[in-house]
Amino acid sequence: GHPPQEQATAKPGVPGVKRIIAVASGKGGVGKSTTTTNLALGLQANGLKVGVLDADIYGPSIPRLFQVSGRPEPVSGRVLKPLEGYGIKVMSMGFMVEEDTPMIWRGPMVISALTQMLREVAWGELDVLVVDMPPGTGDAQLTMAQQVPLAGAVIVSTPQDLALIDARKGLNMFRRVDVPVLGIVENMSYFICPGCGGRHDIFGHGGARKEAEKLGVPFLGEVPLDIAIRENSDNGTPIVVSAPDSQHAQIYRDIASKV
Ligand code: ADP
Repeated sequence: GHPPQEQATAKPGVPGVKRIIAVASGKGGVGKSTTTTNLALGLQANGLKVGVLDADIYGPSIPRLFQVSGRPEPVSGRVLKPLEGYGIKVMSMGFMVEEDTPMIWRGPMVISALTQMLREVAWGELDVLVVDMPPGTGDAQLTMAQQVPLAGAVIVSTPQDLALIDARKGLNMFRRVDVPVLGIVENMSYFICPGCGGRHDIFGHGGARKEAEKLGVPFLGEVPLDIAIRENSDNGTPIVVSAPDSQHAQIYRDIASKV
């Protein structure tokens, strides 16, 4: 028979926030946080008011990507003021714990931390809140997807088979909780050799596009494997703001215009 359908519970929205979009991946290291960051900046470049919620509480990398640190101050009662990077309001578990503190929390604590970051933060008026989900498609992710009133999800994958299989699991996870999948981004899609100018499909190329077609979800775009993307991420100067005229920045703005 059919797998049990998760109960579609009415999730209250976040006041002032028009849409909440999750960025997810089946496994770690595929560039989910890099995509979240540049997608958020792309949405902003397209004229929207944007916030980022770093729900990847086991490996929060949003503070580094946005070059923001410090402790959010309360504005009233328990409600915290989000930090800001490049004009984007940012909230991350990374602000709440020391960097080298291992997060060995149990499920319910993860959920309450997420709920707090969602509902006890002065997000203000936002067109889009982009949520960087923890990698994987297990119970924790499923519960999170259920807790957050999501308008949709973006799945990030590399072209390899294995990564795609994981992405497929992610897709099914969101379908189970009735969250529309806005599409798939193929990251590390190809490599342009700076020496010879030739193009190399290091992880094979086009797998995500094919998979998206097969699964009937939009294909949002291909992001090349490029040292500039990595360096700018590590320096906290994401490519969309540090090189707005680059082809890469254009790719992210194009992806942003499709979600
Ligand atoms: P995840 O959030 O999926 O774990 P990250 O966004 O942290 O992945 O990316 C993992 C590493 O790969 C980081 O060092 C990041 O800078 C790098 N990276 C991500 N996307 C690209 C890309 N398109 N080209 C080059 N490096 C990338």
